[in-house]
Amino acid sequence: MDLKYLLLLLLAFYNTTIAKSQQNNKTSYALVIHGGAGTIKYDPKNPDKQKKYEVAINEALQIGNDTLAKGATALDAVEVVVRYLENHPLFNAGKGAVFTAEGKNELDASIMNGATLEAGSVAGVTTIKNPITAARAVMEHSNHVMLIGKGAETFAQTQQLEIIDESYFFTEDRWKGLEKAKETEKKLRKYDTSHVKGLGLENNFLSKDSSIIGKYGTVGAVALDINGNIAAATSTGGMNNKKWGRVGDVPIIGAGTYANNATCGISCTGWGEYFIRLVMAKSVSDLMEYKNMPIDEAAKLMIHNKLPNLGGDGGLIGLDKNGNIIMQFNSDGMYRGYIKSNGEKYIGTFK
Ligand code: ASP
Repeated sequence: MDLKYLLLLLLAFYNTTIAKSQQNNKTSYALVIHGGAGTIKYDPKNPDKQKKYEVAINEALQIGNDTLAKGATALDAVEVVVRYLENHPLFNAGKGAVFTAEGKNELDASIMNGATLEAGSVAGVTTIKNPITAARAVMEHSNHVMLIGKGAETFAQTQQLEIIDESYFFTEDRWKGLEKAKETEKKLRKYDTSHVKGLGLENNFLSKDSSIIGKYGTVGAVALDINGNIAAATSTGGMNNKKWGRVGDVPIIGAGTYANNATCGISCTGWGEYFIRLVMAKSVSDLMEYKNMPIDEAAKLMIHNKLPNLGGDGGLIGLDKNGNIIMQFNSDGMYRGYIKSNGEKYIGTFK
């Protein structure tokens, strides 16, 4: 080969490599996660418990950070992080899911790709080890957005996802939580239940005071990757002592989860009925899109104004296309954390 030609070729290669690396230095990634919001009280008798949550949140952030640093997509990052949290018995998702009134574990999960507005979710599944992966399979390998119950499980089998025996989800802690909720429910029935919205406690498992059903523990992740794409994912066991095939906000796109590259990615946790009625995650996005609100203003309006005005509690995490992070909640606490490509990192539980 002509030497001049070879030199030109080398120069061209050098220039594209430099251009690419400069581009990579400019683009950044970010990840924000939650492990549930609600009545989280510091237990002086069990200081280690608090520590364990923070260790798990830290580990999840690390896994997500490693994934994003390698140049993986935001979708891959949120899936891998939520899978880790689903496999962790501390959180009310996957392995640590709460029990229904019938003593079963019925899991909900959803995922959304902000680049394409594609979304997938599963609800009321009992044998899929990682519901978030099933939600992603619905998004990527079916013509649908939401699959429920047995049908979702049959679909998961066609996707060769890991199917486990229902007993896998049993944890002593959650079982005790169910027993406690049932006792409280029984006691409350003896007293005036007129303060309870709906038909009274016999027909409505939720007291106006969400603390009687114990803390929440849903998990979620929102990521921005080096290509500027946003994805969000949420997974839960739902509400302790839930009845009649109850489904919360988590698998409902726009309520518990939403992602749009043009605005933000959001993952919610809290009293799901209120998040559904407020179309919480999409409302934050809409306030940004149609009212030009910055993400923190939009999130604060929804969580500290709209949510309590209706009587609900909980929180949300999210980020926008510039990597601005939000973590808002109106409950006692929310297990949460974020990490950015510039090394910035935060882990917190209480206000
Ligand atoms: N939002 C979930 C639900 O209502 C519960 C939670 O966040 O802990 O199912």
